[in-house]
Amino acid sequence: MFSDRDEITDVVVIGSGFAGLAAAIEARNAGASVIILEKMLAPGGNSIISDGGIAAAGTEMQKKRGIKDSPELMYNDMLKAGLSLNYPEMVRVVTEKSNEILRWSIDYLGVEYMDRVDIFGGHSVPRCYTPVGVSGSAIIKRQLLKLDEVGIKVRTNSYFKSFIRDSEGKINGVLIRSNYNHKDAESGIDSRIRAEKGVILATGGFGSDVQFRVAQDPRLTEKIDTTNKPFATAEALKEALRVNAMPVHLSYIQLGPWGTPDEKGYGVGARFSDYIVFPYGIVIEPGSCKRIVNELADRKTMSDALLNTGHPCIGVADAKAVEKSGWNISSCLEKGIVKQFNQLEEFASFYELSLNNLKLTVDRYNGYVENRLDEEFHKPILAEACPISSPPYYGIRTWPKVHHTMGGVQINVRGQVLDLDQHPIKGLYAAGEVVGGIHGACRLGSCAVTECLVFGRIAGRNAATKNNS
Ligand SMILES: Cc1cc2nc3c(=O)[nH]c(=O)nc-3n(C[C@H](O)[C@H](O)[C@H](O)COP(=O)(O)OP(=O)(O)OC[C@H]3O[C@@H](n4cnc5c(N)ncnc54)[C@H](O)[C@@H]3O)c2cc1C
Repeated sequence: MFSDRDEITDVVVIGSGFAGLAAAIEARNAGASVIILEKMLAPGGNSIISDGGIAAAGTEMQKKRGIKDSPELMYNDMLKAGLSLNYPEMVRVVTEKSNEILRWSIDYLGVEYMDRVDIFGGHSVPRCYTPVGVSGSAIIKRQLLKLDEVGIKVRTNSYFKSFIRDSEGKINGVLIRSNYNHKDAESGIDSRIRAEKGVILATGGFGSDVQFRVAQDPRLTEKIDTTNKPFATAEALKEALRVNAMPVHLSYIQLGPWGTPDEKGYGVGARFSDYIVFPYGIVIEPGSCKRIVNELADRKTMSDALLNTGHPCIGVADAKAVEKSGWNISSCLEKGIVKQFNQLEEFASFYELSLNNLKLTVDRYNGYVENRLDEEFHKPILAEACPISSPPYYGIRTWPKVHHTMGGVQINVRGQVLDLDQHPIKGLYAAGEVVGGIHGACRLGSCAVTECLVFGRIAGRNAATKNNS
């Protein structure tokens, strides 16, 4: 199948997001030669546009703040949100290595985190850490630097087309298209790379692949926006299925409940809702002005509650909520995504709400905050939460967007891709969002970065050191 003209390396990594770069670093550190393929003009995938928020349990930052947490508690939270569809042994690996991977990102990569620990829906305690700059680029840049130090550069404009197998079925190479331009599917030149030790699939999710996602969940037509970049498509996943990889949980596609219909993509509103409205404010249905859900519920519970109303709902917060969150919201206000009002009267009038009903709901919620008990939805009332009574008041329209695909190929704890009979496909590893089964029905916020880095490293190390037989 291969000729003398074909390139040879130990390990081929497909995809240059958190998972692919972590795999490449680890494979190189284990002594393997590595080629990283990326179809786009620049490396980073969805990872580089993410917030880079990483979840970890039992950390120094938590201890400093008196937050009691453990891998066991994080494990329970992930399983609860995932409706126990998650593979328990995979969740164990992620949660038990969560603190180690956070430390790896700090001590080895040199990533700096903000001096804060956040809670997002479905986590039972604050355990989410945000890099300085609030961007996954802080992690990607450091990963690229590490690879640069050992002379590895991501090969951009290199589109993975298909796997090559030897006569015994082992994946021993890839067919690629070099000089590929994503705007022209026919562009580039085909060539082969022989992978002596293994191929690692790290091609991310398929949130932007409308045809593929509609096949899994017919509700998710092009009418539903996505936070993903347009390159988040399923072609590489499909190739894995063609070599008999076991597909798991493909129809579990996460909608981000913090999306707003007033801007495209992820935008600036998501952070306002996630960091301010959900923990410190409320979300109301405009017709009744009633709350519809525990605003700190997991993303599936919240998105389902929003979709069930049939129209955008309204997030309500006040000056104290913004102050407690510690976020600067000027860009949200400048872009008009978040609206500011001096009184609830103005708020009600702008969103065409019944003032009386709005006040009733706010008063009722304020009572829950004072009593530290949400009798309606059992939202955990944070220690520093205050009643919504300090003007100015802030409002945002909320409506879910496709955000994460929990499904993908099945792997084992060594990062090997399993076939339809549950046997490892020789020579094939995977990590990151292209993998299914770790988050079950619903991923918790910040757990993707943890999982991508943990399993990226595992896949890289094993691909480089094992014969995969
Ligand atoms: C806006 C946004 C914010 C987010 N914020 C957070 C957060 O704060 N915390 C968190 O835990 N999660 C977050 N997530 C989710 C998380 O960022 C992703 O799950 C994660 O980045 C996926 O990483 P990955 O390495 O698996 O894939 P990616 O980073 O998407 O990388 C995959 C790469 O593979 C390339 N590729 C695909 N197909 C091919 C092919 N055929 N040939 C060659 N290359 C190919 C793609 O071009 C891409 O560059 C966020 C997601 C988004 C979209």
